[in-house]
Amino acid sequence: MMVQGASSGGPAASRAPTAPGSRKDQVLVNLTGAARVLSGHLWLFRPHLVGGDPEDGAVVRVVDTRGRFLGMALHSARSAIALRLLTSEDRVIDQGFVQERIVAARARRAPWLSGVAAYRLIHGEADGLPATVVDVYGQHLVVQTLSAGSERLLPLLVAGLVEVLAPASILLRNDPAVRLLEGLKREVRALEGVPPPQLYLREGPIHLSVDLWHGQKTGLFLDQRENRIAVESLGGRHILDCFTYQGGFALHAAARAEQVLAVDVSREGLERVKENARLNGFDHIRPLEGNAFDVLRSLALGGQRFDLVILDPPAFAKNRAAMEGALRGYKEINLRALKLLAPGGRLVTSSCSYHLSEVRFGMVLREAAADARRTVRVLARRGQGIDHPVLLGVPETSYLKCWVLEAE
Ligand code: SAH
Repeated sequence: MMVQGASSGGPAASRAPTAPGSRKDQVLVNLTGAARVLSGHLWLFRPHLVGGDPEDGAVVRVVDTRGRFLGMALHSARSAIALRLLTSEDRVIDQGFVQERIVAARARRAPWLSGVAAYRLIHGEADGLPATVVDVYGQHLVVQTLSAGSERLLPLLVAGLVEVLAPASILLRNDPAVRLLEGLKREVRALEGVPPPQLYLREGPIHLSVDLWHGQKTGLFLDQRENRIAVESLGGRHILDCFTYQGGFALHAAARAEQVLAVDVSREGLERVKENARLNGFDHIRPLEGNAFDVLRSLALGGQRFDLVILDPPAFAKNRAAMEGALRGYKEINLRALKLLAPGGRLVTSSCSYHLSEVRFGMVLREAAADARRTVRVLARRGQGIDHPVLLGVPETSYLKCWVLEAE
């Protein structure tokens, strides 16, 4: 199977083949765009494009105004990100290409993932398949194609996954709202086999029930897997897990605890907390439905103290414009959480906003500690799991901060 520029495959197949280097399968970018590519970034924005008329989702050759070939890219006609580079080689983008990327992604994770049931196999740009996600859940796969070009490569991706991994099923979870920016519809459907309605698997020593069809993200927040496992060693008798979703951190922290409070606004998540607690034989995890901001406030008013507090909020800063409000939100929850800590208590605090840099996150935490009048040490600066690699040239691939703090 082969997907090329507009000259082959898809709706263009009935037309006369386009001559190589034509406006359909080649784009011209300005020297600013070229410099960006040469610095290692894989995205070019609409103003970088100065020539060519490719279809939405087409694979194109990228050439700069000096005639320099820069690489093969996926074109998006509607998104602000007009081009996503696939490779710097001048080559046909066929099943062999996609399969190579799958094999390489598997190989780069292999040393760390033996015995791990659920992990991200393809982390978009960082694995050389832009805007594409493939998550592994045991024998089952969940796929997301989040740009027009990634969508066009879907048949190649599925064929490659079947060839390399022979999965029991593949589910397409194309419900993220970002697809709307690309003019793509939101849909969820089986691509191969019958994805199960409910899946049971282990994360370290913990049993989890996962809903691939309806759960948040693709069923689990895989990027926090290693951080959830890490809290097991922190212990503590009284534990508070805010933004718990299906109880991930709470379950891992629960083994040696007396009482665990698991807070979320999502009723669906809390039902799953109960089920997961049952699966693990825990009767000391209390799910609490509520807004974490309010819950933190009322716990403080009630004079409660915890040995371990976990904060894993959704991205407060979805874009740069939302930054100010986001900073206030991060500061507030961290300030309140620090106030709730018993002497020597630990705070595991995360931010998955790419727009909040690690440096700024540290500044927010320092202000929160000062306002809470606590002396705070950083015990660990963790981030996204090994299955979410970071491409140095594309800073956007690095987004998750997860710090472990200790308050005197
Ligand atoms: N810690 C979880 C993932 C959390 S994702 C894990 O490791 O699996 C963020 C969660 O925050 C979601 O479940 C969402 O329902 C919840 N949430 C969003 N806003 C909230 C709020 N204001 N108060 C409490 N929970 C909230």
